[in-house]
Amino acid sequence: MFEDTKRDIIKAGMSLDRYGLIALTGGNVSARMESGEILVTPSGMAYEDLVEDDIIVMDLEGNIIEGTRKPSSDTEAILYIFQKRPDINAVIHTHQPYATAIGLIQDEFEVNLTTLANATAGSVPVTPYSSAGSIEMGIDTVEYIGDSLAVILAHHGVMAVGKNLKQALYAAVYLEEAAKCYLAARACGETKRMTPEQIEQSIEVFKYYGQGTPTIPRDLVERK
Ligand code: 13P
Ligand code: ZN
Repeated sequence: MFEDTKRDIIKAGMSLDRYGLIALTGGNVSARMESGEILVTPSGMAYEDLVEDDIIVMDLEGNIIEGTRKPSSDTEAILYIFQKRPDINAVIHTHQPYATAIGLIQDEFEVNLTTLANATAGSVPVTPYSSAGSIEMGIDTVEYIGDSLAVILAHHGVMAVGKNLKQALYAAVYLEEAAKCYLAARACGETKRMTPEQIEQSIEVFKYYGQGTPTIPRDLVERK
């Protein structure tokens, strides 16, 4: 059942490892199928060891449809996000160190790089503290995320979301890249800001990025 998506989930998990967003078995990956089922990674298993059968299929209330593994300890939080946000079809939770570090020093990571604007579609809020494994992680994500595609969970990690796994993965990876750059700059002094127009332009330009999309119209890339 849903073998292709299970493979995509495992691949996304391996990417978290590859881009330094988790260590060992931290974080989790989940996705919603068009037919409504939720696919979740098992708790405490290394992504490189996962096979399709390890991914748990459940309904929106958490009733297991397929799979014998114990699902992620964050399942309650993950289901809460899917229940409250029908536009979200993928949730990726990470312990990415640079973005998490920003959560230790401020309440929001303001957009100041085009990559971040592209990937998270806006500034990234920091939620209050909640315990790993609690539903509050999901409640806070829904409360704080707004139109952004990620939140930083104070003292814990990041929740990245998307209309699909690729969008959630891009949000998490580019958030980390931007956080690393921002902290390097902050170590030397104050950082410059992007204007709201530049941020809006960056978000718009990204809609034309990659194969299968039209070329960026000139009026979008002209200096604003
Ligand atoms: P799971 O392995 O149970 O998904 O937990 C990892 C984690 O990051 C808890 O917040
Ligand atoms: Zn965690």
